[in-house]
Amino acid sequence: LYSYDATSFQQIPDVVVMPRSEEEVVEAIQFARQYGLSVTPRGAGTGMSGGAIASTGAMIISSEKMNRILRIDVERRVALVEPGVLTGDLQEKVLEKGLFYPPDPSSYLVSTMGGNVAEGAGGLRCAKYGVTKNYVIGLRVATADGKIIGTGTLDSEYHGHIAHGRGVESRAASHNDYFSPDLTPLFVGSEGTLGYITQIMVRLIDPPETARAMVAFFPTASQAAEAVTAILTKPLMPSVLEFLDRMTLTAITAQVSLPVPEHAEAMLLAEVDGNADTVAGDLTSVIDVCQTHGGFGIEEASEPKQRDHLWELRRSVSPSLTTLATGKINEDVCVPRGELIHLVEWCQALSDETGLMIPVYGHAADGNLHVNVMYDADDRSQAKLAYNTVERILQQALDLGGTLSGEHGIGRTKRPYLHLQFSPEALELFRRIKHIWDPNRLFNPDILYPSPEELALAK
Ligand SMILES: Cc1cc2nc3c(=O)[nH]c(=O)nc-3n(C[C@H](O)[C@H](O)[C@H](O)COP(=O)(O)OP(=O)(O)OC[C@H]3O[C@@H](n4cnc5c(N)ncnc54)[C@H](O)[C@@H]3O)c2cc1C
Repeated sequence: LYSYDATSFQQIPDVVVMPRSEEEVVEAIQFARQYGLSVTPRGAGTGMSGGAIASTGAMIISSEKMNRILRIDVERRVALVEPGVLTGDLQEKVLEKGLFYPPDPSSYLVSTMGGNVAEGAGGLRCAKYGVTKNYVIGLRVATADGKIIGTGTLDSEYHGHIAHGRGVESRAASHNDYFSPDLTPLFVGSEGTLGYITQIMVRLIDPPETARAMVAFFPTASQAAEAVTAILTKPLMPSVLEFLDRMTLTAITAQVSLPVPEHAEAMLLAEVDGNADTVAGDLTSVIDVCQTHGGFGIEEASEPKQRDHLWELRRSVSPSLTTLATGKINEDVCVPRGELIHLVEWCQALSDETGLMIPVYGHAADGNLHVNVMYDADDRSQAKLAYNTVERILQQALDLGGTLSGEHGIGRTKRPYLHLQFSPEALELFRRIKHIWDPNRLFNPDILYPSPEELALAK
């Protein structure tokens, strides 16, 4: 169970430890050091870049038993959680108190806050509300030398009080978002390579009064992508704007009931939220733009139950793609919004050229598309072709001014390609940051940062 995540990598760890407290995390780290094991922090193992997979001779420290919501402070609008809290559980509990934690990776019902912070997770409504990094304001971290440090609102001055659940940190109270200097951002997206996150403080906001959603189909993928760009140039920001191409629709309809019109080559799913007075008008504007760009079969979903059905459907996409082929490489490239259409068209041409199925879907509003290369896992030459194709996709995203990963992280899957985006000087700086925090490469030694040999090759 602890040997895999949502990638195709697999490695059985030597030891799995499930601490119940910060003190036990420190003990586990000391044990690993004593016995020459490396440490792989692990949340729910839903990662899509292989970060929670053990290296050879590694101890997995699982956060599954550190899953307490330590505090929801309504007055300060913050929550303090242990890393194993499921994101969906936190969202539910803060909503009960009239507050909102927006970051919502499609895996939010099963992935952990620790994993979300370590990957810098994005999600469906992140174009409007921001990603995980915009909400994390303080961390406590167990370091490679077995010490606990606090960052941001949880800086070390307060750690005694917080660890024992006493009092509210008075200085931090007026500094929720403006704590400086602050090491917190260094850990968000560090993929478990710098230390083990033991506590997370996030800021909370007011929930929207109401929301309305719609689904529209398009005769071509390009028209759907054009509609996305046109919607985003309007003075409104949908809370969700998801793009799904024909191949993705074919995979979903094999699993769940979705009436897709015969000539539909793409679908957009949009949600607007906010005040009751403005939401209806905003949805009409979105629908108008879709119609102008050839959208048809448009259906509104204003009832919570109808909307839940749409999001359930959206969350089923990634697993349902596995019905198309036995091999699947899921890349989450990100391009500037205006380039979305070029990426979509280029992927279609690439699919025609290689003969591989390349379904494309994703968070269109922030240019973060999931480009999936499907192949027959038993056919070595097709697998090779698929991996070569991936490199071309990554290069194309960079050529369009984008980035290698919009939310899944670098991990094991994209580490070999890091030099495509970063200069040798930048890579050397990354390596030095890792060296300062973790000179003996205790934490996740085989992910994210290129090795000295790889750096030499990049030069
Ligand atoms: C169906 C599906 C849909 C998904 N949709 C999205 C999406 O919309 N947006 C998105 O961003 N991602 C998405 N993901 C990817 C994944 O869910 C996220 O990356 C998530 O944040 C991983 O959380 P986890 O608890 O599973 O972490 P894991 O997979 O267990 O670990 C991920 C990384 O975090 C590190 N880590 C975990 N806990 C700690 C800790 N306490 N301290 C330090 N490091 C730690 C691990 O070492 C590893 O490098 C999806 C995955 C699936 C399977």
